[in-house]
Amino acid sequence: MEEVLVETRPVGRLAPSPTGALHLGNVRTFMIAWLSARSRGGRVIMRMEDLDHPKDRPGAAEGAVEDLRWLGFDWDEEYVQSRRKAFYRDALETLKSKGLVYPCVCSRRDVESAQSAPHAGEQLHYPGTCRGRFSSWAEALAFCGRPPCWRFRVEKGGRVGFEDVFAGRYEQNVAEKLGDFPLARDEGGAGYTLAAVVDDAAMGVTEVVRGDDLLAATPAQILVQRALGLPTPRYCHVPLVVGPDGRRLAKRHGDTRIARYRESGARPGAILGMLAASCGWAAPGEEVSLADLLPRFSLAAIPHSPFVAGTL
Ligand code: GLU
Repeated sequence: MEEVLVETRPVGRLAPSPTGALHLGNVRTFMIAWLSARSRGGRVIMRMEDLDHPKDRPGAAEGAVEDLRWLGFDWDEEYVQSRRKAFYRDALETLKSKGLVYPCVCSRRDVESAQSAPHAGEQLHYPGTCRGRFSSWAEALAFCGRPPCWRFRVEKGGRVGFEDVFAGRYEQNVAEKLGDFPLARDEGGAGYTLAAVVDDAAMGVTEVVRGDDLLAATPAQILVQRALGLPTPRYCHVPLVVGPDGRRLAKRHGDTRIARYRESGARPGAILGMLAASCGWAAPGEEVSLADLLPRFSLAAIPHSPFVAGTL
């Protein structure tokens, strides 16, 4: 029988965190993610990552959806993480039954004071204080009187590597870089890593296109995928948009919120055109729709340096 090789249709995702309004930086990454999937006939998932309660802003989730629709984005399925906690709890149970997580009673201050070097803005390294300290969750709870968090047990010595389709080969020694990283604030309080891993698999995501600020977070996600017997999607980390000072685009660089452009009468095609030009897919000043960009999509055309928003 003749073998027919059919490329399975990719499944990509847009995963906004409703911690603030959508701005040019978010949209450039979403544009690349959407085009990557759609240009190959793939499907797109919209997943609202609203588990970060202290930082989530009321109305930001609805605002992001409205802005994306105004720009012409569409998607095939929509999910909200805060309604999916039962799935994360189940995954945590699985990891517990395999002995791959343990309860930890250390406070943030305990972990901070154990750092050998300052880690400004970086995830802290956990020295393993509670590894093997308690025989059960109940014992840990009795010890400190508040619910312990759950940490993933990272094997010593192992390097985790993967081929990023944009950034290239990336390797990290997770034990040295992070140590046993946290997965859940408490039994029901899954954090970003656990939720993203569970959801990418549950939603059939085959490719993750996101900002390269998350490159260093990927090896930990791969370890959790392996521990749960889940597949590793194709990763594509693209450069962030930065301000003229080279720092990640933020309020200090002026108002680059999509809502502000919309309110001031800008056309979606002009915004997409600016961002497409920064990816090498449009001429400066050209207005384009997402549909126009489908045949022009090329990862190879995107510059590897961060895009400076001041040049828009
Ligand atoms: N919600 C994350 C963010 O907005 C993205 C996470 C991901 O793409 O895995 O930074």
